[in-house]
Amino acid sequence: KGFPSDRGQAKTIAIANQKGGVAKTTTAINLSACLAATGRRVLLVDADPQGNATSGLGVDRDGLDVSVYDLLLGEAQPERVVVSLQIENLDLLPATINLAGAEVELVGMKDREFRLRSALQSLRGRYHYIFIDCPPSLGLLTINALTAADRILIPIQCEYYALEGVGQLLQTVNLVRRRLNPQLELEGVLLTMFDARTNLAIQVVDEVKNYFGDKVFRTVIPRNVRLSEAPSHGKPVIAYDPRSRGAILYQELAQEVIEHEE
Ligand code: ADP
Ligand code: MG
Repeated sequence: KGFPSDRGQAKTIAIANQKGGVAKTTTAINLSACLAATGRRVLLVDADPQGNATSGLGVDRDGLDVSVYDLLLGEAQPERVVVSLQIENLDLLPATINLAGAEVELVGMKDREFRLRSALQSLRGRYHYIFIDCPPSLGLLTINALTAADRILIPIQCEYYALEGVGQLLQTVNLVRRRLNPQLELEGVLLTMFDARTNLAIQVVDEVKNYFGDKVFRTVIPRNVRLSEAPSHGKPVIAYDPRSRGAILYQELAQEVIEHEE
């Protein structure tokens, strides 16, 4: 497969929204797995101290001696932190709970915003895509992710106050673009947990499309129990239940991301 970016390097996409529970991690796991299933090599970076992407892919956090935390502090070689999964073409940079301390520990360090970018540099030639699953805040971990990324993907839950906080997120993106990473662009906005039975969900879709225009992915992810069950089995939904709506729609999303390669 050719590389999606021109430089023979991974296209790096941060999945970010400072709101919790909007499906950042669900999207990170499932989009990564669906792209890996097309034969592209994918690295998923768990940048959330909660480590949900790590456990959701069946990796036992207690058994890890190095993680993204050590990468950020410059205490481990990136190659040594990569975990290869049972899933073909998909690797993981796992998070452990000590990542929570990194926000504070990084504050006094030089190049504190560029730590993740530097750590990923030597890995970029080995993958087609690198996804970064961000924590639910706009702190230094998310700033590191946005500084390391070419693109940001913003999941938005089809619920009350869907657009709340989005202005602040976009301000942060602009700040990062001005000061840290001029290349950063919006990959797209993803509507998640859509329930066609509610008028509210339909209103939210309209509202988000008015706000973001053609930056909204055509694919809308429906509410689907299989998506919420899969992580407890340590699997992406295409492995857990390939026929489920969740599996089908995340594969469609992967196709849209592939369209953006051209
Ligand atoms: P975030 O990473 O933004 O905090 P998660 O991906 O962890 O959000 O999702 C929050 C919760 O919603 C999780 O329990 C997840 O399993 C569930 N969830 C995410 N997307 C869906 C969906 N489309 N249908 C049903 N449940 C979902
Ligand atoms: Mg999460």
